[in-house]
Formats: sequence, C-alpha cells, structure tokens
Amino acid sequence: MDCIFCKIAAGIIPSKKAYEDDKVLAFYDLDPQAPVHILIIPKEHIESAAEINADNSAIIAHIFEAAAKIAKDLNLEKGFRIVTNCGEEGGQTVKHLHFHLLAGRMLAWPPG
Ligand code: AMP
Ligand code: ZN
Repeated sequence: MDCIFCKIAAGIIPSKKAYEDDKVLAFYDLDPQAPVHILIIPKEHIESAAEINADNSAIIAHIFEAAAKIAKDLNLEKGFRIVTNCGEEGGQTVKHLHFHLLAGRMLAWPPG
C-alpha cells in the first residue's frame, strides 16, 4: 500500500477524524487553508475525479451526504466550499480522490 490516504483510511497513519462510516472518512487537513479545512475521502482507492465511472460513481453521492452531515454538525450555516483538485494543473498533490471542505472565512472566487 503506497498511498498516504489509504494508510489514513486504514488507521496506519493517524488523523483527526471529523466523520467516518463504512465507505468514507473525513479528517482535518494538516495544512489548513481556512478555519475549517476537512478532507473527505472514499475508503476505496480511486486516483482522482478523472477515474469516476458508472461502476464507482455512487461513492460521490455518499461523500456529499457526509459533507452535508459535517456541515450541520459544525454549524456551517454561513456557507462552505467543496472542491476536488484533479491532476497536475488542477493542483492535485495526493493521488487518492479527496474533497476539500473549506469554511469559516469569506472564500475568494475565482480561485488562483
Ligand atoms: P491536494 O493538493 O488537493 O491533493 O490536497 C492534498 C491535501 O492533503 C493538502 O491540503 C495537504 O495539506 C493534505 N495532507 C497531506 N498529508 C496529510 C495528512 N497526513 N493528514 C492530513 N492532511 C494531509
Ligand atoms: Zn489510496
């Protein structure tokens, strides 16, 4: 297993958990870009958004259900952003699909 997020999902590398169920894990980013910065990942290894297909796309709905639960739990009623970076020009550094959930400050648009 040569994937840092697979190791986090398996509990081999520790993380500060925000939410977990049988299919997804959400944990706090080590280098937060906003007062709330959580990563939501499928426990199953999927490299990026470019690898989503008819066989694995149900996990995306599940991840967004988890995001809505986290937003309710953390009282993010002022708003939040969910973003996934894909590939080199998309700014993806970890090649295991993850969604950044950012909140707690006014977020700029468009992103840099
Ligand atoms: P990306 O650049 O979109 O691929 O996002 C990868 C994110 O993973 C970055 O925001 C990193 O700060 C974060 N990250 C990397 N390693 C860890 C870790 N061990 N625990 C928590 N967050 C991490
Ligand atoms: Zn992985």
